[in-house]
Amino acid sequence: MAKDLLSKWTSNDSANLYGIKEWGAGYFDINPDGEVIVKTTVSGKKVEVSLMDIVSGLTQRGTQMPVLLRLENLLDNQISLLNNQFAKAIKDGGYQGNYRGVFPIKVNQQQQVIEEIARFGEKYHHGLEAGSKAELMVALAMIPSTESLIICNGYKDAEFFDMGLYATEMGYKCFFVIETPSELPILMERSKALGIAPRIGVRLKLSSRAGGHWQDSGGDNSLFGLTTSEIIDIIDQLKAEDMLSSLQLLHYHLGSQIPNIRDIRNAVQETARFYTELVQEGAQMGYLDLGGGLAVDYDGSQTNYVHSKNYTLGEYCTDIVEGLRTVLDEHEVAHPNIVTESGRATVAYASVLLFNVLDVTRLESRPLPETLPEDADEMLVNLWEILGYMNLKNMQECYNDALYYRSEIRERFKHGQVSLRHRALGENIFLQVIEEISANLGRLKRVPKELEGLDQALYDIYYCNFSVFQSLPDAWAIDQIFPIIPIHRHREKPERQAIIGDITCDSDGKIDKFADLHDVKHTISLHELKAHEEYYLGIFLVGAYQETLGDLHNLLGDTNIVSIRIQEDGSFDILREIEGDSVAEVISYVEYDPKDVQNQFRKKAEQAVRSGKISVQRRKTIVESYESSMRGYTYFER
Ligand SMILES: *Cc1c(COP(=O)(O)O)cnc(C)c1O
Repeated sequence: MAKDLLSKWTSNDSANLYGIKEWGAGYFDINPDGEVIVKTTVSGKKVEVSLMDIVSGLTQRGTQMPVLLRLENLLDNQISLLNNQFAKAIKDGGYQGNYRGVFPIKVNQQQQVIEEIARFGEKYHHGLEAGSKAELMVALAMIPSTESLIICNGYKDAEFFDMGLYATEMGYKCFFVIETPSELPILMERSKALGIAPRIGVRLKLSSRAGGHWQDSGGDNSLFGLTTSEIIDIIDQLKAEDMLSSLQLLHYHLGSQIPNIRDIRNAVQETARFYTELVQEGAQMGYLDLGGGLAVDYDGSQTNYVHSKNYTLGEYCTDIVEGLRTVLDEHEVAHPNIVTESGRATVAYASVLLFNVLDVTRLESRPLPETLPEDADEMLVNLWEILGYMNLKNMQECYNDALYYRSEIRERFKHGQVSLRHRALGENIFLQVIEEISANLGRLKRVPKELEGLDQALYDIYYCNFSVFQSLPDAWAIDQIFPIIPIHRHREKPERQAIIGDITCDSDGKIDKFADLHDVKHTISLHELKAHEEYYLGIFLVGAYQETLGDLHNLLGDTNIVSIRIQEDGSFDILREIEGDSVAEVISYVEYDPKDVQNQFRKKAEQAVRSGKISVQRRKTIVESYESSMRGYTYFER
């Protein structure tokens, strides 16, 4: 009994198992009741809210899973952190310039996200980065003040330049970053035509590279940026037109999610040299834009692994400020304002995808009969006998034999010599052999290569109410790892090993790579489902890049979105609910006219009436349920 109490599973055990304190960055944890909580500070007071309370609040209001939950407090928090840490590094390092952050709209373009960044960021003069005409239109409408920067990257045509020039005339600090030499003549022509002097930046192609997924964004072969000779051409052209005072910003973007601080330092050093030279060429300058790349520690390992980062935000800021100051002071160049375009780190924490588990399939054997049927094939007999003589010494041999007998049974089934029931029996015996081996692997002094990982081959599939393609495109496209954890029941030990399947029935619609402090795990520990009780999981840190890259695979549409703000007393307000796509909306995205589709179905129902297959009353019911499905959610509804 005493031992039982000692070995009781606690929230702490779960916290360790899932690494939530490591990747949660102080925002997520598990409370003693075994529920995942969001922690934040409101008006100087620490508050926490259980995600289960949020989920029950939502389900009581009739909001169906899956739900993308936006936590506005965390978005505000990250903006504060970024600005405060830079301010601190600047003060501590005796740096003369200011910090001016901009949020790259492409990382999360949703109106309520951009509005909140603009609203909350105003006191820091946090601005926006636009990479296309559409994003510029959004930025021009949302930018909170003339103190915040608008940085224009990407390909720009005359219309794009005109809009940015008008904004400049209206007093906004709008920078055109020249990405290719052909942009400059268009800009100069528009600037003359409208009589408005532009603020110009140049995008560098650095020779410094950064590791990680996006390593090709920087370096000699990167798609974007100007070579050294092209920059000299631009300076000469501006000089010839007496426009060098317009050249005010130097920009580079090494790529997103840079795991290694060394790469950041190298790039800063190289850029500081370029900046110095541009000043010495007579350009006005004043701004140095170091792009994005500030990483998020998705697996909590604090390493230079692709899903992690080996530095803190404080170190990032200090290294940038110190790195610049050292080079600039050496050449006696005035310190520019520092701009960064951190997207991922700003918004990742603020969104959590919540969903329920619909079903589980287990890969496990069923009880075997006492004896084999009289007419069992010899291969079935051989397989059966393994269970009798297998021991620790011959496990590997037995494994090979079992594999062979199973494949023979499958072969004989194909040729009609083994029946369906006997084949099922064979598969079942095989599973028992594997289960026995994996249960005993731990007792071996040395695990033979062939048997390594066999214990991980026996996992459950948890079918979950979401679509990887719609909600986690990076998990599918680039094997990005996101932390996943049940949001309740953490006082019970999760006894099952599982992978996660979504409801697209696509063989890629699954998650089988999970965050681990030391490695990538191929299964996740989950609790057994209970009858008549929902089991909820959360996928965390999904605020960056996931929302608009998502696609309509199997015509599963946008999920419901709910924004909440946690209050000082620990309650939360639902600020905004956006209903997910209905079936009618989703099919109209792929050019169907829902009315027309509905009419075509009505005709079929009418034909069935005419041919006597269904009654008129039946027709009414069928057509009504078709039409109600049209208006319904594309996900599994309870
Ligand atoms: C994508 C992008 C960013 C954002 O990078 P993060 O790593 O998300 O901070 C910043 N600047 C440019 C030019 C980009 O293309």
